Amino acid sequence: MHELGLCDALLRMVRDVAKKEALTHVEKITLEIGELSGVVPHYMTDCWTAVTDGTEYQDAALVIETVPGIASCMDCDKEFRIDLNSMRCPFCGSHSLTPVSGQDMLVKEIEAC
Ligand SMILES: [Zn+2]
Repeated sequence: MHELGLCDALLRMVRDVAKKEALTHVEKITLEIGELSGVVPHYMTDCWTAVTDGTEYQDAALVIETVPGIASCMDCDKEFRIDLNSMRCPFCGSHSLTPVSGQDMLVKEIEAC
């Protein structure tokens, strides 16, 4: 489960930011997870609870926003939201797709006081 590693990295990142910006109490972290990133949002929240348990961030909420996976078709040039089950172009049926967005996971916002 690589979500555990990602949460570990996220915790380190939040710590760095909190230190740099002298944030005393982080309340909420908003993550954007692309549908094509391979990261499962509910695993992230589970792992976040696990890695922050007993730390200064155990009360910090992890909010996840999903970014739709958009691809363009190399055969007919159309852009569309990828159906993860079929992974094909809904217009011409081609499997030659190039991802346009939704491949990344990024920290959108850290709310603190
Ligand atoms: Zn197509």
